Amino acid sequence: NIIGGCCGTSPEHIRAIAEAVADCAPRAIPVIEPKLRISGLEPFNLGAGDLFVNVGERTNVTGSAKFKRLVLEGDYDAALDVARQQVEAGAQVIDINMDEAMLDGEAAMTRFLNLIASEPDIARVPLMLDSSKWSIIEAGLKCVQGKAIINSISMKEGEAAFIEKARLARRYGAAVVVMAFDEAGQADTYARKTEICARAYQILTEQLRFPAEDIIFDPNVFAVATGIEEHANYAVDFIEATRWIRNNLPHTHISGGVSNVSFSFRGNEPVREAIHTVFLYHAIQAGMDMGIVNAGQLGVYDEIPAELRERVEDVVLNRRADSTERLVEFAETVKGKGKEQVEDLAWRDAPVEQRIAHALVRGITAFIVEDTEEARLSLGHPVKVIEGPLMDGMNHVGDLFGAGKMFLPQVVKSARVMKQAVAHLIPYIAADKSVESKPKGKILLATVKGDVHDIGKNIVGVVLGCNNYEVIDLGVMVAADKILTTAKETGADIIGLSGLITPSLEEMSHIAKEMQRLGFSVPLLIGGATTSLAHTAVKIDPHYAGSVVYVKDASRAVGVCTNLLSDGLREDFIAKTKADYAQVRERHAAQRSESKRVSLEQARANKLKTDWALLPSPAGGRGAGGEGAGYTPPVPKALGIQVFRDYDLAELARCIDWSPLFQAWELHGRYPKILEDAVVGEEARKLFADAQAMLKRMIDEKWVEARAVIGLFPASSAGDDIEIYAPLPSPAGGTSSSQVRRAGDEGERTIDTSAIGTDPHPNPSPASGRGALLMTWHNLRQQIAKPAGQPNWCLADFVAPKESGVADYLGAFVVTAGIGEEARAKAFEAAHDDYNAILLKSLCDRLAEAFAERMHQRVRMEFWGYAGEEALTNEQLINEEYRGIRPAPGYPACPEHSEKGALFELLQVPANIGVTLTESYAMLPTASVSGFYLSHPNARYFAVAKIDRDQVADYARRKGWDLATAERWLAPNLG
Ligand code: SAH
Repeated sequence: NIIGGCCGTSPEHIRAIAEAVADCAPRAIPVIEPKLRISGLEPFNLGAGDLFVNVGERTNVTGSAKFKRLVLEGDYDAALDVARQQVEAGAQVIDINMDEAMLDGEAAMTRFLNLIASEPDIARVPLMLDSSKWSIIEAGLKCVQGKAIINSISMKEGEAAFIEKARLARRYGAAVVVMAFDEAGQADTYARKTEICARAYQILTEQLRFPAEDIIFDPNVFAVATGIEEHANYAVDFIEATRWIRNNLPHTHISGGVSNVSFSFRGNEPVREAIHTVFLYHAIQAGMDMGIVNAGQLGVYDEIPAELRERVEDVVLNRRADSTERLVEFAETVKGKGKEQVEDLAWRDAPVEQRIAHALVRGITAFIVEDTEEARLSLGHPVKVIEGPLMDGMNHVGDLFGAGKMFLPQVVKSARVMKQAVAHLIPYIAADKSVESKPKGKILLATVKGDVHDIGKNIVGVVLGCNNYEVIDLGVMVAADKILTTAKETGADIIGLSGLITPSLEEMSHIAKEMQRLGFSVPLLIGGATTSLAHTAVKIDPHYAGSVVYVKDASRAVGVCTNLLSDGLREDFIAKTKADYAQVRERHAAQRSESKRVSLEQARANKLKTDWALLPSPAGGRGAGGEGAGYTPPVPKALGIQVFRDYDLAELARCIDWSPLFQAWELHGRYPKILEDAVVGEEARKLFADAQAMLKRMIDEKWVEARAVIGLFPASSAGDDIEIYAPLPSPAGGTSSSQVRRAGDEGERTIDTSAIGTDPHPNPSPASGRGALLMTWHNLRQQIAKPAGQPNWCLADFVAPKESGVADYLGAFVVTAGIGEEARAKAFEAAHDDYNAILLKSLCDRLAEAFAERMHQRVRMEFWGYAGEEALTNEQLINEEYRGIRPAPGYPACPEHSEKGALFELLQVPANIGVTLTESYAMLPTASVSGFYLSHPNARYFAVAKIDRDQVADYARRKGWDLATAERWLAPNLG
């Protein structure tokens, strides 16, 4: 309120406002990438380069006899199940159509959408409201939450009606499917399709300023192989029109009802599926990015038997006059055939070069040594084998990967074949010094000092190796000095840094400064889980005059290196990257000045308010008095520390959350539905099968040992800190001591508890059953300005304050599933088997996370015991549908990593289970998880996000640090 209570509309007021803000720079307008941004309960974005979107087609009364029957009979529960199955089968949007003569379409649409709204597992995806009657679409638009898609509008009834509907679509906030239909009818040829779409685009974007990214063209999919000659080119017309739209109508999307194309093969599902798969394969390449499909029923192009594929392709691409007859004839033979496959060794009859190529593409190691030897003898020189068939094969693999036809696990398996072949040849090459093979470039990779994670880095190394780059991998915890000296000594062409935890971000920035200081000029690549484009642009790029590039995932590494090392591409690429990053910095600066923060004092005043009861209720848990009686924290059944060694791995295997395993291998999707995914399903199934087989061996043969240490302690909050005290030995002697358990132990062994058991300090307070202060857990509080009613969260607020006098508790834990992991992984690496080395590491990570989940459950049910009656499935555990949280230092609610130091002392972690910390507080072995247990029913995860100077100073004081040290540890959270 700059000028005090004015209305702001009269000329002098406007002038006054102008004067008052004359010194302020105008807001930088953010550049928002044009994407189709739709949503159900969850957002869903589709932009250039994103993968094909499946729109579920089964909730359509005109397309599904079953759905029609259910709706007509009023069985809406079963109709909802159809929608749910679609989502579970991988539909990212669902199409809903109630166009049936016997039905009141508006009422049916309204009822069905209202029911969906209360089913979060369905409502999370965006909806496509499908009707030829506008009133039914409008009825639907009034029910949807989020941003829907209208299917469809067109110029069928002329421009005026089209414009009116487009305007309404904007008012309802919906995206639109525009059907290629005009006054003269539905477009069936390439010329008509493109003409109508171009006209619609012009009207929408120029007359109405309709955002192009909210337009989805449907150029009409019609049936082919109908026996009518005019229909033969329908699929080609669609595909070519798609290509034209993609190239000429920027930012728009292209969709279609895929099942139509195979209509003449009704009743023959294998052939229909093959037609859909082939059609999509070509249409997606042409630019189709969305399709209405039966999400559970799409095949994999390369998996269609060769003869069927050829005949289907003849039809879809209209390649021969007799293609329909030939497919009809062949269709009879595949009717109802299953997809079973037998191992086919026919490829063994091919010439040796072809066998090697086949083995590389398929990742088959069984014959590679004998084939390599045969090639060496016939080509006369080992290097010729590498530069001939092996490189040819790997180039082919690289091309397939680049084209999205192969996925990461396959590439890593190909690399294994390559490495075994090369290993066979090395002794022969070493014996003959006359030759040298020449890689495309030398790339030095390292995980930075203080950090230990290397799955991503190893994958990048393998992928680069496959593409004929020489990779020098310095491993983990590598100091700046070592990286830079090695780079100089070896003449590396590129340096790649990897890191997982936030302190590594500072280390990377430090290395960039060092490179500048020492006069380096080679490009610097940045990758790893907490790195980001913004961080690279803002915190690293400005420090180094050379090229700095953020590499989002392994699949992009090759492209980046090719650009950086080839003479024709380098300059443009570097200039463009520098310019892009400068823009990211500008955007970042603009955003930063916009987000408002409050003072630490104000934030503290807006803490979570809990009515802590004055007297603990005898039973623990909630006080008996109902409303107003306040909240009483539950008392742990087993106070003190417990150590678990040699924990049952099979028990942990049952608690695994599998989705992150696929993520680690860059296969995108959630388990279990990823196994049926149209694009990555096959590779996901193979990876999963390999993972299961290895997991079984890990358990049966005890490849690794799982260990845990947990502790439950009296605790109270003191401002934003939480004080953790020694439990006083109970009079009966029993539970407040330290115990070691082993799998299969009947009894428990009590170990020395001198660190926590007895209390040498003079200030025990027997009333609250607590001994000496063991640890202070320092916490941070959100400082962003919150809307009314929302607290500024801080984890300390979930523990009863000291001054309340209420006895409260917390837990702490460290678990690992990585004892023995490194040795096993090294053994695989020594056998040139990166695939299994990486698979093992990703499985150990899974087991460690599962251990954290399982131990948390046991704490709730047994050791703390406040949730004795809990009965959750593994899925519910993964979704965290339980009371209490286990915040992990380094994560957003408690982002400062050094707190792990005190946690490790509290639980005597190195001595108890052999897990240690690096100087950046990364845990070793890597497959370890640590954190605290909080039981408060309102406890939740949040992000502290950016904090201000006042809190940095306050935190420094509480930690006994100087300001510079605090700023270094808090760097990721500084405003
Ligand atoms: N099922 C996953 C679980 C790991 S991620 C897996 O197998 O990989 C979830 C864990 O991350 C939580 O239990 C908690 O320990 C931590 N976490 C997530 N968000 C957090 C936040 N905002 N603050 C602190 N810890 C958080």
